[in-house]
Amino acid sequence: MEGKATSSAPPGYHESMQPPGYHGNPPYPPGPPMAAPMGPSYPVVIGQPPVVVHSVIVQPSQILGPQPVQTTCPSCHQVVLTRINHTPGALTWLSVGGLFLVGCMLGCCLIPFCVDSLQDVQHRCPNCGAHLGNYKRL
Ligand SMILES: [Zn+2]
Repeated sequence: MEGKATSSAPPGYHESMQPPGYHGNPPYPPGPPMAAPMGPSYPVVIGQPPVVVHSVIVQPSQILGPQPVQTTCPSCHQVVLTRINHTPGALTWLSVGGLFLVGCMLGCCLIPFCVDSLQDVQHRCPNCGAHLGNYKRL
């Protein structure tokens, strides 16, 4: 009886007395799993508030003239030399009307459309094409 119990006891004892870490429940450290979700959530908040709202309003109207001027484009924020286009303005139409009254009926009254100094000047950004302002003759 004793011999049998002693011989069967060691194998049974050996199976149940395995080390606790071997059974599939390793005591993992609590540090990394807790710190991981908190780490990335903090830096995301920093980049959210847009700050450059009021400085966008740059009205270069005081320096616009008949010639290209250097200004800061409010659209692409580059310092650019404006690209000018001549567009018919009030002075252009007055000139047309004046020529028409004088008697230039046919093609002559359209001359002001070809004369840059009689037309308004439209300033645009050469970089992004944004309309920066007009220089008006009248
Ligand atoms: Zn621009």
